[in-house]
Amino acid sequence: MKGLVIKRPGEAHVETIPNPIQTNGELLLRVRMVGLCGSDLNSFRGRNPLVTFPRIPGHEVAATIVSSHNTDPALHAGANVAVYPYTNCGKCASCRRGRPNACQFNQTLGVQRDGALTEFIVMHPENLYAADLTLKELCLVEPLTVGFHAVARGRVKADDVVAVFGCGGVGLGAIAAASAGGALTICVDVDDHKLELAQKAAGGAHTIQSAREPLHEKLLEFTDGRGPDVIIEAVGTPQTFRAAVEEVAFTGRVVYIGYAKEAISYETRLLVQKELDVLGSRNALPADFRAVMKILEEHRFPVDEAISSIVSLDEAPDALRSWSENPAKVRKIMVHLH
Ligand SMILES: [Zn+2]
Ligand SMILES: [Zn+2]
Repeated sequence: MKGLVIKRPGEAHVETIPNPIQTNGELLLRVRMVGLCGSDLNSFRGRNPLVTFPRIPGHEVAATIVSSHNTDPALHAGANVAVYPYTNCGKCASCRRGRPNACQFNQTLGVQRDGALTEFIVMHPENLYAADLTLKELCLVEPLTVGFHAVARGRVKADDVVAVFGCGGVGLGAIAAASAGGALTICVDVDDHKLELAQKAAGGAHTIQSAREPLHEKLLEFTDGRGPDVIIEAVGTPQTFRAAVEEVAFTGRVVYIGYAKEAISYETRLLVQKELDVLGSRNALPADFRAVMKILEEHRFPVDEAISSIVSLDEAPDALRSWSENPAKVRKIMVHLH
């Protein structure tokens, strides 16, 4: 079968690779569409320390079940599914606490193990979610779940004002989840187009273009001078990490999804003085997958506007290269396989 292989940083080719081997209980899937995300771009650029080469990327997957001996009637041959791309060991502290999304030994598809940019993959049935969704929608399930999980971590309620720093794919999911739950959301980004999408598409109530507008004053203006009840950080820079604790209301919650690449110094006094809940959020739980699929089934998320281009597998190496040269220009690339 064909697969996209990143041979070393900056070098990706479509190659002939061995077909996957089904082991006990796994189902064979034909990969239909794969979304490329920022972490795939980081792998291509050699900037993800968890990735070794050669590596097949891809963890945002829409696939069709080829053969099924499974007893779950939803997972019949021919069913279209979204894929849960994480693993969990069942034994670490996170797994024992019922939080397998943060398993200490997690291996994400396309990161610590080969991913889905191939014609076929094999998966355990418990990692498959059948839904009556289009291929594009199925591909968007996983990236949206990450933001949904952050909103769940922040215990966002309908009467909360939530500010989301960073309106890329992950931030959009957080805005969609918070808005769908009835919270008032403030979308913050430096990119006009992303802000427009966040408001139009994901239900954001207000926007702040933080390159042009004063973040602090605008946040106070939208919150009667108190600051947001919850801030979700989906950027990963020192400035946004610090701004989250500086701008959040007293006794508010701060949820970090962004992965900072460097050590960040803090005014820790604010954590105590404001009695903040500071939370990390990683990957997503099965419940987040079900919540996202519900919103997509109700057509409450404008899928087409979130996607910037659809390319074939053969075109995917070039798409990665041009994305790498122009990271700001691209929203979401989908690779269509069959
Ligand atoms: Zn992703
Ligand atoms: Zn574990």
